[in-house]
Amino acid sequence: MAEREERPTRVVVIGGGFAGVNTAKQLIARLGRRRDVSVELLSEENYFVFQPLLPEVAAGGIAATHVVNPIRELVPGARFRCCRVVSIDHAAKDVLVSQGAGLELVRVPYDQLVFCLGKITSFAAMPGVAEHGLAMKDLSDAFRLRNHVVRCLELADIERDPAAKAALLTFVVAGGGFSGVETIGELSELVSRSLAYFPHIARDEVRFALVHAGPRILPEMSEALGAAARAVLERRGVQMLLDARVRAASPNAVYLADGRVLETRTFVCTVGTAPNPIVEQALAQGGFRRAELNGRPIPAFAVTAELACLDRPGYWAVGDCAGVPSPSGKGLCPPTAQFAMREAKTCARNVLATIDRQPLQPFAFRPLGSLASLGQRSAVAELFGLHLTGFIAWFLWRTVYLLKLPGFVRRLRVALDWTLDLFFPRDITQLSVLRHEHLHIHHYEPGEAIVRQGQVGREMYVILQGEVEISAAGAGAVARLGAREVFGERALLEDTPRNATVRAVRASDVLVMSRSDVRAMAKSLPVLEDYFSDLLRSRHPQAGAPIETSLAVGQP
Ligand SMILES: Cc1cc2nc3c(=O)[nH]c(=O)nc-3n(C[C@H](O)[C@H](O)[C@H](O)COP(=O)(O)OP(=O)(O)OC[C@H]3O[C@@H](n4cnc5c(N)ncnc54)[C@H](O)[C@@H]3O)c2cc1C
Repeated sequence: MAEREERPTRVVVIGGGFAGVNTAKQLIARLGRRRDVSVELLSEENYFVFQPLLPEVAAGGIAATHVVNPIRELVPGARFRCCRVVSIDHAAKDVLVSQGAGLELVRVPYDQLVFCLGKITSFAAMPGVAEHGLAMKDLSDAFRLRNHVVRCLELADIERDPAAKAALLTFVVAGGGFSGVETIGELSELVSRSLAYFPHIARDEVRFALVHAGPRILPEMSEALGAAARAVLERRGVQMLLDARVRAASPNAVYLADGRVLETRTFVCTVGTAPNPIVEQALAQGGFRRAELNGRPIPAFAVTAELACLDRPGYWAVGDCAGVPSPSGKGLCPPTAQFAMREAKTCARNVLATIDRQPLQPFAFRPLGSLASLGQRSAVAELFGLHLTGFIAWFLWRTVYLLKLPGFVRRLRVALDWTLDLFFPRDITQLSVLRHEHLHIHHYEPGEAIVRQGQVGREMYVILQGEVEISAAGAGAVARLGAREVFGERALLEDTPRNATVRAVRASDVLVMSRSDVRAMAKSLPVLEDYFSDLLRSRHPQAGAPIETSLAVGQP
């Protein structure tokens, strides 16, 4: 019993973003030399990402590693556990995590639990976007986008088919909020500054489009600043598609709900978020209340003005996963880093006040303003009631974010990146960004070609849903295939050209298998080897001997 009394009170913070890192940091700062409270931070990655600078990373203005900090370095006084939270055992007061190389399931006990899990990207409502769209949420997204854009320029420079070249040079971003506007602004800078290296691409061949569901971009800012941002981007040639929604995407195009089709190889989707699954789980099973916005429940924790989860003592929520009542008395606080950091401070204070049986303090904060970079040394800013646009706003934007970036060394590195960027061209090194080397799913809209006659195929396909039509020059449509049927098996016959074109008749999802995938499967399961051999024999009887070797092990 005596031993139990001596045990420190365990505060566990889950999530290593703006909310989690700052909550842990504030707790450690307030605890000073106290040893009666322990702080443990759990997060999937061992680094903190400064998301507002991701569009600059995507545009090559800042090196990727300069906008991340190791969490251990940011919060040295807290215990850090790099793990994935799997569920919460509310009865036992344990967080269940999978950790280590073997993904072992471990229990982390807590007395006070702070949820800082943010939201996740979800494109589920838009077929094909998860497979063919690029997100802008994490470091890997920014890194992938930069390399993808440079690859498109490389391919466009040598492309002889005008339609294919146009698609390679069309860059589409969905979402007219901060991240979408900043992404298209920065992309336009990357492309325009790189064109000097691509002699076969004319400036007027490049096209940018911003798709936004509302009537004006940057709805978080005043109407005048939204209009100013729009004018700057339009002057740069960005096409504004307002009151427009993305319906679907394929490897070749973005489909809008109003029927318009944008042929492109680059689609960045900054819209589409969903609650973190752990938050959903807790809301469904843990007795937590959902926050409400305009009278409608939203998938975030309802919290008091003190950041405590409603009706659940010992539980707190901060940042994007919390519905924090706005100190203005109207609605909820916006899901921004600016608010998450201030909420973290109040939450840390109140967690310790609860442990010490002291009165709690409500969250109070008046936002200082907001800034959005438009690339090419231009921005819009609303600060202390002042409206600024152009170079001054851009300079302010850089200064504010530089000061907010955690860690002196990172600040110095970003400042150096920005200084070099003023005098030198952007880096157009293209690193490999292959997202799926193995089995993956593609989505196609009706009429789109999946394989074309004459092309050398190295992939075969299984229809998961939808319908495709097979046609051959001179013979017209020869067959239709539906769910669970296979096509493209000619890819197994050593680089022989396709003898037919396959088009989606209905919206279709297909499983794409490379030749090496199929050979690996055939090698491991004799039943599959028989299946693929029979398929080749029945559909390509004239192929003869190659069939015997086409499934042989060791061939690429
Ligand atoms: C491109 C972009 C630009 C932005 N620009 C601005 C801006 O200019 N100004 C501004 O104020 N805001 C901006 N924001 C918004 C801001 O970044 C978010 O509001 C902020 O990140 C929210 O912080 P958070 O800690 O609540 O969530 P997050 O930052 O999303 O952090 C969630 C954390 O939880 C961890 N996690 C999730 N699930 C698990 C699990 N199961 N197990 C373990 N760990 C888990 C994640 O790894 C992550 O560390 C921008 C966002 C983006 C994407």
